[in-house]
Order: sequence, then structure tokens, then C-alpha cells
Amino acid sequence: MQPNRRRGGAPFPHRDDRSARSVDHDHIDFPGTDFWERARTFEPRSERDVRFVVVHITGGSAHHGGPTGNHSRSSAASTHYVVNREGSITQMVREKDIANHIDNLHSVSNAHSIGIEHVTAWNGAHHLAPTLAQYAASSRLVAWLCKSHSIPAEHRPQHGSPGIRGHQEEQPQTGRGCPGPGWNWGTYMGRVRLAMGSQATFEDTIMSLARDPFGQRVDDRDVDPFDPV
Ligand SMILES: [Zn+2]
Repeated sequence: MQPNRRRGGAPFPHRDDRSARSVDHDHIDFPGTDFWERARTFEPRSERDVRFVVVHITGGSAHHGGPTGNHSRSSAASTHYVVNREGSITQMVREKDIANHIDNLHSVSNAHSIGIEHVTAWNGAHHLAPTLAQYAASSRLVAWLCKSHSIPAEHRPQHGSPGIRGHQEEQPQTGRGCPGPGWNWGTYMGRVRLAMGSQATFEDTIMSLARDPFGQRVDDRDVDPFDPV
């Protein structure tokens, strides 16, 4: 294996891909970041007011989704962080700078958010769910973001409100279903709360798993004990 040599033109570093630069702590914000790779498009700022976190998933193939994701295949798209399927985290835009993950670079949504891309596959019909390693890594990252930017560690789907939400929730008109039906908010937020160190979260996690074990809502009304199978 040759260090610092890109292999196969893959747009996104995997854990064993030495094309990714070793993390330089002068360039990263989250201490758990594995790689730093500067995005092509971002707006430098000296500081800014970060109020919420936006979750994205990539479309297309899991191995070639890359940081541009399903919300935009344009190279002009960027997020602050990308979480790959093995749970490695790449930072691509500094948190003080504006990334282009909602609508356009100068949108109000981008101005006040941090975007996290998760490498999955989603073509509108078939969905590759995030891995547990992704949920685990992303929840640690988000807990840290919430603490460092005083963001409520809660799933708040209302556009512009402080908290954590999906792309589609922040911008329904162009969100294209991102992060889609395979994203399990119960599992994710349970892990975020655990990572925040809240005592109440273990029970929340158990309850979310009990309600939603495979990412699909179980409705008791559908169950008739007297209905022969
Ligand atoms: Zn998106």
C-alpha cells in the first residue's frame, strides 16, 4: 500500500484508503475526526452562529456516493462532515465556515447549520440503511456539536428551529426524501442522548428499539389476536 496515493479515483476515503490525509488537528473541529479533506465549495467565515444540525444520506452506490450526496450530485455541494459505512469521520469544511448542503451556498439554512453526510445508497425505490457503526460515530459527533454550539440534542423537524433534523425537514421542497425511510430517528436520537451523558437515555433507547426494532413502525391496531394466521 502506497501512502498518499489515490486508489481507483474513489471520491470518498474508506478506513483502509491511504489517499485520505492523516488528520491534522489544526484543520479539524471534532476531536474524533479520522480524516481531513477540504471541500471544493464553502464560504469562509471568521465565526458564525450555528443553531442546528442537518442529517443527509448519499444516493447512488454506497461506495461511490461521495460527499456530494443525493441532495446534489454537483461538485458544488459540500457538508462539514461525512460519516462512512465503517464509522470513519471525514471533516471537509470547518464549522465556522458555511457548507453548501441545503439549496445554495447562500441559503439561510446553510448559514446557521452544520451538515453531516452519511454514505448509504438510495435511488428513490431501494434503500441501503445506515450501519450501526455509522449511527454510533454520527451520534458521538452530533452530541459533541450540540454541546459545543449549545444546540438542543433533540430531533426538531421544524424548519430553522434549534436542534437536529433531516434535509427534507429543513427544506421540504428540494429535500428529495433525504435522509429517507431507512434513517431510524429513534435509534439515532437514543444514541445521541446516550452520548450526551443523559441518565434518562437508556430507557429512551430501549423504548425506541421496542417500538421500532427494524426501522418500521409497529402499530398495535394492526394486530388482532383472534385473527387466524
Ligand atoms: Zn440531503
